[in-house]
Amino acid sequence: MVYTDTRDKNVKTDFRTAVLNGMNAETGGLYIPVEFPRMDQSFLTKIPEPPFREVAFEMAKPYVEGEIPDSNLDEIIQDAYPFAAKVVPIDRVSYVLELFHGPTCAFKDFGARFMARVMSYFNRNEDDNLHILVATSGDTGSAVGSAFHNVPGIDVTILYPDGKISPLQEKQLSTFDGNVRALRVSGTFDDCQKLVKTAFTDTDLRKKFRLSSANSINISRLLPQSFYYMYSSLVVKNRIPQDSKIDDPSIVVIVPSGNFGNLTSGLIAKEMGAPIAGFVAATNSNHTVPDWIATGKYKARSSVATLSNAMDVGAPSNYERISAMYSLEQVRSMIASYWADDKGTLDAIRGCHDRTGYVIDPHGSIAWKAWYDIRNGEMQKLVNKELSGDINRTGLTNSAPSWAKAVVDKTAVGIILETAHPAKFGSTVIDAIGREPSMPDRLERVLSLPDRSIPMKKDYNSFKEWLVSNL
Ligand SMILES: *Cc1c(COP(=O)(O)O)cnc(C)c1O
Repeated sequence: MVYTDTRDKNVKTDFRTAVLNGMNAETGGLYIPVEFPRMDQSFLTKIPEPPFREVAFEMAKPYVEGEIPDSNLDEIIQDAYPFAAKVVPIDRVSYVLELFHGPTCAFKDFGARFMARVMSYFNRNEDDNLHILVATSGDTGSAVGSAFHNVPGIDVTILYPDGKISPLQEKQLSTFDGNVRALRVSGTFDDCQKLVKTAFTDTDLRKKFRLSSANSINISRLLPQSFYYMYSSLVVKNRIPQDSKIDDPSIVVIVPSGNFGNLTSGLIAKEMGAPIAGFVAATNSNHTVPDWIATGKYKARSSVATLSNAMDVGAPSNYERISAMYSLEQVRSMIASYWADDKGTLDAIRGCHDRTGYVIDPHGSIAWKAWYDIRNGEMQKLVNKELSGDINRTGLTNSAPSWAKAVVDKTAVGIILETAHPAKFGSTVIDAIGREPSMPDRLERVLSLPDRSIPMKKDYNSFKEWLVSNL
């Protein structure tokens, strides 16, 4: 596969370069494959649908062709995914896609674990280890730390703001041993990010070490997230005849979004032939993308803190990919958008629990509420042109997708992405439904591990000194 970038279509590079560079430093653009090959019809219509790891292997193949042999790709997939995504029906026309069965209980495990093994593969013949530096405001650090833990040839340093992440999040990223270390920086997330950015532009440091980043703009985190869109849409397509007996159903995927990596992966799956009619971009009060879809004008802003904090992004990086891949009209025809504030989030957790018995986390809950409201009147109002165009009103955004009629005609079914285990946000869930979600063993275990984080000042010299004497 040839990779190009979002800012200069003349750029041509390979998968290895795209993965190890993360972004194109010369243009400032993000890497994308020049094409998204459609899967064979025999694959898309197989009954029963292929198991998750087979879907993953077949979808990954064209993107690594000529660079990673099939046998190594298969090893990467088997090692990355000892767990799978689970489709759980919650009512006749709604399914939850549980993406929290990985080690850190959030969907980022799908992308981070694939990326870690691909980087290790590309580094296999080098004498020196690759050093990953990652600044985190919470969830990314644990997914990346866990994904790279004990992966050969790679060391990871995680920087997080002291006292500014939740105690559980801190446990999840500060208790690794061996090749993953966490620095507890006396500063903000922005200070952490600045330290990492300064290190990457420090030529003296780069002469000493091979540095790389692991943030969500990396194409090797995005591609593997498309696997579960394909898998779940094939599962649901095959279940609909028994579950809801709808003829010619339209499958809509509702995606709780922040940086819009997850939704971009959904668009990739659709390009590759997944039976998905369209998407709902569901956000919290950081509704930059819904506003763009409604008004046609993209305006990044600073983020505001919410209960669904992994979606607190005011300037989503993957806007750049989506707008390089599609025109505004194409985006509007595929994607409806919806946003909820914190009150709406609590109402959503409660509403989902009361109506279906399912305990959902604050991120997935916004997707649940979006789907519930859309099929209970909001889409009808939108089609009848009765929705207000005020972008500061919560709810469905005033722009009708191509699949709006299917919702109104009740021939649409929804797949709600549940991006984190509710136990990660226990206190919010208690506030909403009065009881705590049960804690999975792997979260319980991490709580009892000793904290190994290292205190770090926020000035660059202290950080560099530490790197030089410890890497
Ligand atoms: C990161 C994250 C999101 C947002 O995903 P994007 O790809 O940034 O849009 C949603 N929910 C949870 C739990 C997350 O950790």
